[in-house]
Amino acid sequence: MTRQDKIYDLLVLGAGPAGLTAAIYASRSRLSVLVIEEMLSGGQIATTEKVENYPGFPEGIGGLELGQLLEDQARNFGAEMALATVEKVVLLGDSKEVHTTDGVFRGRTMLIATGTRSRPLGVPGEEELKGRGVSYCVTCDGSFFQDKTVMVVGGGDSALEEALVLTKFAAKVYVVHRRDELRAIGILQDRVKEHAKIELILSTEVEKIKGEERVESVTLRSKAQNKQWDIPIDGIFLYVGLVPNTQFLNGSLKRTEQGYLVTSDAMETSIPGVFAAGDIREKGLRQVVTAVADGAIAAISAAKYLDELTEKEDKQ
Ligand code: NAP
Repeated sequence: MTRQDKIYDLLVLGAGPAGLTAAIYASRSRLSVLVIEEMLSGGQIATTEKVENYPGFPEGIGGLELGQLLEDQARNFGAEMALATVEKVVLLGDSKEVHTTDGVFRGRTMLIATGTRSRPLGVPGEEELKGRGVSYCVTCDGSFFQDKTVMVVGGGDSALEEALVLTKFAAKVYVVHRRDELRAIGILQDRVKEHAKIELILSTEVEKIKGEERVESVTLRSKAQNKQWDIPIDGIFLYVGLVPNTQFLNGSLKRTEQGYLVTSDAMETSIPGVFAAGDIREKGLRQVVTAVADGAIAAISAAKYLDELTEKEDKQ
């Protein structure tokens, strides 16, 4: 029997910390589980050099390594993995379907744990110079900027964390933030402010990214000082927030205005038997610890849902 002929107890979309933790818990509950992922296991953390705040790793742990360990743990309990891109889901009816680049998979329940992707800044030059100095991933592209001048845009945890990683390669790192106050957690703010290679430019917005073949400079604007000026740079890393990966859902589930999926405390979405976990869910804190907690709860909720379904079917 091929995977496409099977009906899994739980289909997990996304192999980040939420999806893989759900796979671990569901497999241990003896559910058959298929995890579908289009890239590497780990999701956002796979593009993070080091995860410092996941308990149990006092020296931190590489993001890629943590992702692989979660996958290994899920596989050890029997979860299956498929490498495919999700194109569409069909959620109504007894079996939930996911249409992918590797065919259609079916499950009695489904967990959506597809996380988020980088939000574009939306300024002239960004699209044209993408991959030619405009990047959204320091882990992927940072090493190309050995001894160069780079800029990071954003004031959140991602921007500051990645600016610090960039100091290992670049000679100079500008951090440009639109407000006069950074959003990131205190320890990152302290490290950035104290770093000799980093120059913070606050209350300033990027107006334009310029360059012929590659990024050459940016135009900045400070509203407070009513001034506009150019800074020559070799690369620019944009960390201005995230948008949820819900494009394949076609509006089938209840969402917030920002597009995050609304769930109950049991991680159930607006359709019974369909769960959501991790960064894609409406929540107050998007972290690995909250993602794994969501994943565990979702898996146990899916198991309970299936038990109740079986009980109902037995009575009929
Ligand atoms: P974020 O917290 O949403 O921060 C986005 C930053 O970009 C904010 O400073 C925001 O400015 C700025 N921004 C948004 N739109 C902009 C625009 N159009 N122009 C200029 N600046 C703009 O996103 P994130 O840093 O990617 O973090 C996402 C989540 O992951 C957070 O929950 C974060 O705590 C978590 N995370 C945690 C860690 C960690 O624990 N080590 C590491 C990375 C991420 P304002 O501040 O003015 O809104």
